Amino acid sequence: MSTEKNQNFLEEIVEEDVKNGKHGGRVLTRFPPEPNGYLHIGHSKSICLNFGLAQTFGGKTNLRFDDTNPVTEDTEYVESIMNDIRWLGFNWDNVFYASDYFEQIYEFACTLIKKGLAYVDDSSAEEIAAMKGTPTEPGKNSPFRDRSVEENLDLFARMRAGEFKDGEKVLRAKVDMASPNMHLRDPLMYRIKHAHHHRTGDKWCIYPMYDFAHGQCDSIEKITHSICTLEFEVHRPLYEWFIQQLEIFPSKQYEFARLNLTYTVMSKRKLLQLVNEKYVSGWDDPRMPTISGYRRRGYTPESIREFCDRIGVARRENMIDVGLLEHFIREDLNKRSNRVMVVVDPVKLIIDNYPEGNGEILHGENNPELEDKGGMRDLPFSRELWIERDDFMEEPTKKYFRLGPGLKVRLKHAYIVECTSYKKDESGKITEIHCNYIPESKSGSDTSGINVKGTLHWVSAQHGFACELRMYDRLFLPEDPSSAEGDFKDHINPNSLEVITTAYAEPALKNATTGDRYQFIRKGYFCLDQDSTADKLIFNRTVGLKDSWAKETKKA
Ligand code: ATP
Ligand code: MG
Repeated sequence: MSTEKNQNFLEEIVEEDVKNGKHGGRVLTRFPPEPNGYLHIGHSKSICLNFGLAQTFGGKTNLRFDDTNPVTEDTEYVESIMNDIRWLGFNWDNVFYASDYFEQIYEFACTLIKKGLAYVDDSSAEEIAAMKGTPTEPGKNSPFRDRSVEENLDLFARMRAGEFKDGEKVLRAKVDMASPNMHLRDPLMYRIKHAHHHRTGDKWCIYPMYDFAHGQCDSIEKITHSICTLEFEVHRPLYEWFIQQLEIFPSKQYEFARLNLTYTVMSKRKLLQLVNEKYVSGWDDPRMPTISGYRRRGYTPESIREFCDRIGVARRENMIDVGLLEHFIREDLNKRSNRVMVVVDPVKLIIDNYPEGNGEILHGENNPELEDKGGMRDLPFSRELWIERDDFMEEPTKKYFRLGPGLKVRLKHAYIVECTSYKKDESGKITEIHCNYIPESKSGSDTSGINVKGTLHWVSAQHGFACELRMYDRLFLPEDPSSAEGDFKDHINPNSLEVITTAYAEPALKNATTGDRYQFIRKGYFCLDQDSTADKLIFNRTVGLKDSWAKETKKA
């Protein structure tokens, strides 16, 4: 690792704290997902930051499920989140649930009531909103603000006991209805919600609000650095107020800019709509920006971590080009994936002077990027091959270095061939191409002295097998779908998935298992999809070899 890498501002803060012996030099961070959806690439930024900071400074990281909203949360999400974090390569020190602390948080609320700093309000949500004021005008005190401590304790206990309906009462902090920070105008601490919770069942019918749960959980766990996204900056004074008034462990909140990617939506609420309304096949659809989607698409955890690391940590909202993420996966797969030959849009190439029969076994290196070339694979060669339809031109242009009448090319890991003739059907479609091969031009022992400019990939017709390719493009057309006009779903790319059923693969691919990653020579990076069966292998295109999208947008 290079030691030149600039520290981000969070690393600077933590380093300073450690140097000053704050909390005895201890570093404990947490990653606090709400289990209301699958993790997305934005979360991986937060995961890399929280776990990364702890790793850098010899600390630890808790995984804490922020499960204070029973209606939208589910154990399916809990499991997927744990699975995704492990896949990304991180291990938490402890796993906790905010719901584990409901009793303690309730006691904290009682402490504030006793200090005269919290009260039960009978006002409706509308009345509370109306009394809130505006950023330029102070709010009004609620008529229930001056209830006695005894009455508040009694009412709050009865809220917990289930005596009231949803929305009938709330518990509020008594801070300052004239504060310029709207979050300090007597914020809600508890609401009544008669709903089944995925962990606590029907034990509770009151649930703490985010602002009266997050900091309290941090403090209970003695989190030293509580890192969250910028939208919580305005909540920080309240975070600190609660901790000060309760005189509990002084966890500190720090904010960074969330990750936004071009052509991508990133909110779980929106991703859930795509799943529920069947715009995609599920949370792990390879077009989804979820970690499970990227995994199925063929991304490696290393590439995602590298991406998160290299984009840095900003203090201002920004938008990262999705092409950069693609760059990192391309770089990583270039190093680690075996090369194979797959013909996507096949046309027959017949070598007239090659003997009929079973042909011969040639060999191809698995990965030229590796020192040992990744070993060699068997490559059956025979008289009839599949090549790409667009590797042939009837009337080749000057700079065309592929096949055409009279032109010579090399067949990868095989021989040089010269095109002699071709056939067409009535519609003008090429049906077969004929050529002769030059026996002494065999790759590795070429004595022909012939130089050719083009090398084509091919598959032996007798040995290859048909497979399905799923080609993915951006799921959204505009660069920023969330701020485009109308509903974000109006901007879905209708061509985000193209299924190709004509492809032929070389026999080495028959042994592929789910998740195996390959470079299909000249075609891109692919991995075997979980939908594959013994009879039909399906490959997802992870990413092309070049950024064709960037080129196209430049042309337009
Ligand atoms: P969403 O709005 O997508 O549902 P969220 O913030 O509600 O996201 P949480 O489960 O509450 O999702 O998030 C867990 C942690 O991940 C939080 O600390 C949150 O700040 C962080 N996080 C969420 N989205 C991003 C993002 N796009 N970039 C960086 N961090 C993020
Ligand atoms: Mg959230």
